Amino acid sequence: MYIIGIDIGGTNMRVGLFKDGNMIKKTSVFTRTEEGVVAIITRLKQLIVNVLEQANIEMGQVKGIGVGCPGPLDPWKGEIQSPPNLPGWDHIPLKKILEEEYSLPVFLHNDANAAALGEYTFAYNRNVNNLVYITVSTGVGGGVVADGRLLLGVNGSAAEIGHMIINPNGNLCSCGNRGCLEAQASGTGIVSKTKALLQTTKEASVLKGKSKLTSKDVFVAAENGDALCKRIIEEVQFDLALGLTNIVHAYNPEMVVYGGGVMQAGESFIKPVIEKAEKMILPGMKGRLTFAATKLGGELGLYGAAALVDYFQE
Ligand SMILES: [Zn+2]
Repeated sequence: MYIIGIDIGGTNMRVGLFKDGNMIKKTSVFTRTEEGVVAIITRLKQLIVNVLEQANIEMGQVKGIGVGCPGPLDPWKGEIQSPPNLPGWDHIPLKKILEEEYSLPVFLHNDANAAALGEYTFAYNRNVNNLVYITVSTGVGGGVVADGRLLLGVNGSAAEIGHMIINPNGNLCSCGNRGCLEAQASGTGIVSKTKALLQTTKEASVLKGKSKLTSKDVFVAAENGDALCKRIIEEVQFDLALGLTNIVHAYNPEMVVYGGGVMQAGESFIKPVIEKAEKMILPGMKGRLTFAATKLGGELGLYGAAALVDYFQE
């Protein structure tokens, strides 16, 4: 039997077809959130048709559909609840819509939780029973597999590690709190931190007066020796190390898998983060702990979605 994995993001919407743990076909389109829910779901259904046609199989040969989507969402109701990345998706019962369309079981989960399950299932063959996934890009997300189970929490929102507060006097977060890991160390956080500093300091920097600033600009300037940017990157490294330390202390994982553009900014960036974290992690929790970049890379969203089907059907 086949499995369909669907990865819905604010920029791209992708569908993958899986058989025996391998993705055999995939297809994607821009989400175009401005077109609204109905148009997007219509295009999603077309993507599903396309992927089945490419593989020359019928819907009757599919045993289930997994969907990873930005939160907040209710995985039990299968309802998407106004994610900031999907404007207009207000209480959309996507699970019900797809189940009625295809008469198949559909499993809808937060994309970061699905990603953790994807690494656990496909990258580590369910052999690493305590695994944390952390992604740091424009935002910060995470998922936890504890004792071989995906941790969901009472709202299905467990492991919102982006909103772990690591500096109560830190940057204002989109959630309203100060000093969340996401506000301190995401790509967005790096940009706002740099902008704020550039506005108030007399210190020279190659980025002074630059109109459109990206986190990549800050990384490149730091690499080229810009003292102000170097300091910002060092702060980000320390904040990420604090975040990783807290995560390890909370969940006692064997494996911390990281992904996202910031975490994969290069060996010279991530190595000091892990070294700083290892200095702070309790000795008893270090012996069997490994940090590793995602093995599934850009396809992790699809693998995570597909992993939901077997996991929740068993
Ligand atoms: Zn927050």
